[in-house]
Amino acid sequence: MLSRLPTRCKHCKERFTAEERGMRIHPACIDDFLAALKAKKERVQERERKAKQRVERAVDRRKREELKRISELIADAQFHFNAFIRERDRQAGHPCISSGRVLNWSGNAVDAGHYRSTGAASHLRFDEDNCHAQSKHDNKWLAGNAVDYRIALIARIGLERVEALENNNQVHKWTRDELIAIKALYVGKLKQLKGAT
Ligand SMILES: [Zn+2]
Repeated sequence: MLSRLPTRCKHCKERFTAEERGMRIHPACIDDFLAALKAKKERVQERERKAKQRVERAVDRRKREELKRISELIADAQFHFNAFIRERDRQAGHPCISSGRVLNWSGNAVDAGHYRSTGAASHLRFDEDNCHAQSKHDNKWLAGNAVDYRIALIARIGLERVEALENNNQVHKWTRDELIAIKALYVGKLKQLKGAT
């Protein structure tokens, strides 16, 4: 039995004297011992918290990457859709949809301007009725010149189709597969248009 008694203080590691036999810790050491125990527990918790944070950050990063890839796919599909819209309207000899001015195709002055903006109506960003060749001036500096755009759009595609656009508020989340397919579709449609000239 004697041999199982602790010979040293659990905190300061000093050997117990004969009088202290049977103790596990010096009474004077208890506060320091508990403080050290608490500090150790906090260090462990801090390590665990940091590990958890690292995992969460990695998950966030993956989510951001996923989002980025979708936004990149949208931009890519939009680029090819817009190129098709411009070529469609160039071949048709259309003027700027909102100002009615003859478009200058020689430089970089023609946009594919959306009637309902891609920001406000993302579900119509690849709708051919919703997008027409427009001078950069009107698209950029006159915020799309919506009033004149509407008048000319009715003349071009008819009130019924304009109202269909205006009443279309279905929320749509573009998927990876859709965006890849849209890009391929408009690469093909543009090629076909250019081949026809
Ligand atoms: Zn001690």
